[in-house]
Amino acid sequence: MTFHVMIIPTLNCPSNCKYCWGSEKKSEMMDIQVIKEIDKWLGGFRDDYVHFTFHGGEPLIAGYDFYKEALPILKNSETHKEAGFSLQSNLWLLDEKLAKLFSDYNVAISTSIDGPKEINDYQRGEGYFDKTMKGYNIAIENGVNVSFISTFTSYSKDFRDEIYNFFLKNGYNFKLHAALPSLRGNNADNWALTPKEHGELLIGLLNNYLNDLDKIEIKDFDHICKSSFIRRGTLCTFADCMGDTLAIGWDGNIYPCYRFVGMKDYIMGNVYNHPSMDELMKSNAWNKLMEFKNYVDDNCNDCDYVKFCRGGCPYNGIVSSAENNSNSNDNVNSNFKNESSISIDPQCLAYKMIFKEVSNRANKEFLKSNMNLFTNNNENKTNKFSIMDLMLKK
Ligand code: SF4
Ligand code: SF4
Repeated sequence: MTFHVMIIPTLNCPSNCKYCWGSEKKSEMMDIQVIKEIDKWLGGFRDDYVHFTFHGGEPLIAGYDFYKEALPILKNSETHKEAGFSLQSNLWLLDEKLAKLFSDYNVAISTSIDGPKEINDYQRGEGYFDKTMKGYNIAIENGVNVSFISTFTSYSKDFRDEIYNFFLKNGYNFKLHAALPSLRGNNADNWALTPKEHGELLIGLLNNYLNDLDKIEIKDFDHICKSSFIRRGTLCTFADCMGDTLAIGWDGNIYPCYRFVGMKDYIMGNVYNHPSMDELMKSNAWNKLMEFKNYVDDNCNDCDYVKFCRGGCPYNGIVSSAENNSNSNDNVNSNFKNESSISIDPQCLAYKMIFKEVSNRANKEFLKSNMNLFTNNNENKTNKFSIMDLMLKK
């Protein structure tokens, strides 16, 4: 099991995407001393390999000197075994010097583009596309591995084919991200996909993808199909993420995941105190996550997909619980509200829709392949590739 440590050097970001809830313009900046403390804290914390992801806000605001010092500390450490580095960035601040450094340390970058320029800039702001693609080209020219994250909103869901074809035509691998409500305020609400829209989007994109497995990669479907096959979640949303992912804010505070960073109710401890997992488990944040886990064990028990869904994302469940949505927009957020103090992920319907689609397709394929044994009937397929191709993809 790899332990995932997310490092959030700042919540600040130069961009101003309309549905973003993850940035704060006045956020402070992490000092390199925090990285040194993370390194010390990891000694004796647990024995597993550690994967580090730099996230934000916008992590490149930390600048070249920060990474020049941080990467060797985390890589050549005697306190832990490093399993790799990733960075999530809009790439506006990437220059050749930084790109070369990231290439030297094999830092895999994910960047956010929501499809063709017109759609992207409508949701993310004028000029965003060109600035990100400029950074992308610098990264590629310097040998950095870059993939994309495409956020689908209540607006862009109607342009599914245009967005898919944009990634396909350019050969860009991507992960998809549904715009969803947040604990930090309600600016994402008007952009959020309802669970049904989210489910329909997933099914539509899966259908597209099954014609192009030899051309691009959409990681979400690789995970969803693999999880259905091995009956164990391989994406954080569909696994018990608690404790196997932790996030460190600019001041060394420790949170369950980057999505909680900056929220004082979700501070589990601080790296300067070198807390053990047992100590972190005494925090209120941990109790909240355990409430979620127990709720899933009680309420998802009868679900066919529970082994590889595990109630979805705890953060989404906590957002939708009654005590946290009092500030939210009543009209839009009713799709995500729950009257109890804890809830499963309100995207449950979307997950059920896609897992059901995958399982129905797999059953049909299985039946057909058996019938073909007897009839030798090579009926035309609707997709070039099968769900089994995706399940067995390496
Ligand atoms: S809280 Fe949600 S986003 Fe964060 S690690 Fe867990 S499943 Fe993933
Ligand atoms: S699909 Fe819904 S009911 Fe089933 S495990 Fe996931 S959240 Fe629970």
